[in-house]
Amino acid sequence: MADPGGPGALALAIVAGERRALARAITLVESELEADAEASEALLDAILPHTGRALRLGVTGPPGAGKSTLVDALGRHLLERGERVAVLAIDPSSRVSGGSVLGDKTRMARLAADGRSFIRPTPSRGATGGVARHTREAMLLCEAAGYTVVIVETVGVGQGELAASNLSDCLLLVLQPGAGDELQGMKRGILELADVIAVNKADGAERERAESAASELGRALSLFARHGAAAQPDLRVTSALSEHGVPELWSTIAARVASERASGALDRRRRDSLRAWLHEELEARLRERLQRANRSSELRELEAAVESARLTPRRAAREWLELTHARA
Ligand code: GDP
Repeated sequence: MADPGGPGALALAIVAGERRALARAITLVESELEADAEASEALLDAILPHTGRALRLGVTGPPGAGKSTLVDALGRHLLERGERVAVLAIDPSSRVSGGSVLGDKTRMARLAADGRSFIRPTPSRGATGGVARHTREAMLLCEAAGYTVVIVETVGVGQGELAASNLSDCLLLVLQPGAGDELQGMKRGILELADVIAVNKADGAERERAESAASELGRALSLFARHGAAAQPDLRVTSALSEHGVPELWSTIAARVASERASGALDRRRRDSLRAWLHEELEARLRERLQRANRSSELRELEAAVESARLTPRRAAREWLELTHARA
């Protein structure tokens, strides 16, 4: 029987749809305290059978393109369609404090006000590209809680898109009209990773500019497309403010995921993602082991031996690995 207050009881409460249990569980898996590690692992083991059924949408793009506003509009559209929506917003501003600065009050205000949605800012803690190490775990917890669409929003800088693409079924890139310069600054890789591109802010005086930016982008994308290259992204023009194009954007995303599911591509993508996750975990754990070892006398001795050229760094590294492996 589940220990009251323990991971088993928490898992049951999550699956029963208790929001506070979900929030508590995310805090637990995000904890870097050694004391929480075992409970986190037990919790994730317990919810694993309840995961995998949501559509996982990654949203990326340069700051100011309208990602949050678009997620707000898209999320409300989804609620109207009877979906249950969870948003994990990677909050780069919280790196220093470890807490969330932006919160959900100013961003996605209308979606947050709807009790059917779950919005959670996640501190990025400097993880690659702003996708926190524990974002995938938070995503699984949301799925176990019955959310049918889980959106992970991240700022598209550096490796962010790659990480976001890795954990999603569909990666939406949000751009704004006049994004030509930004596009040049962005690596071509992002355009290849994106499954769907929304040229946002197509309203008022900007509407025409957005339409022509989208056509221009369409032409650039067909130039990129080479034989054997990945499928081209779908392009949509949206206004997160007026909600113009938002239902069409969702249809495009849903159709793309449905066709990938039918062809088996989605299954492959998820398997790749799980394998990548395992490797990230291994790397993180090895790094942690190394950090702990930095304080150990054995490593100091090896350093001294290397400094005085009594041992090659290569031999010293091997000795250290063998030593810690034997102990682990
Ligand atoms: P993010 O940094 O990509 O998340 O961008 P935000 O969603 O915070 O939006 C940045 C600014 O653009 C805000 O002032 C929004 O009100 C504005 N904005 C977002 N979407 C639209 C849109 O569709 N049309 C217009 N005119 N402004 C928008």
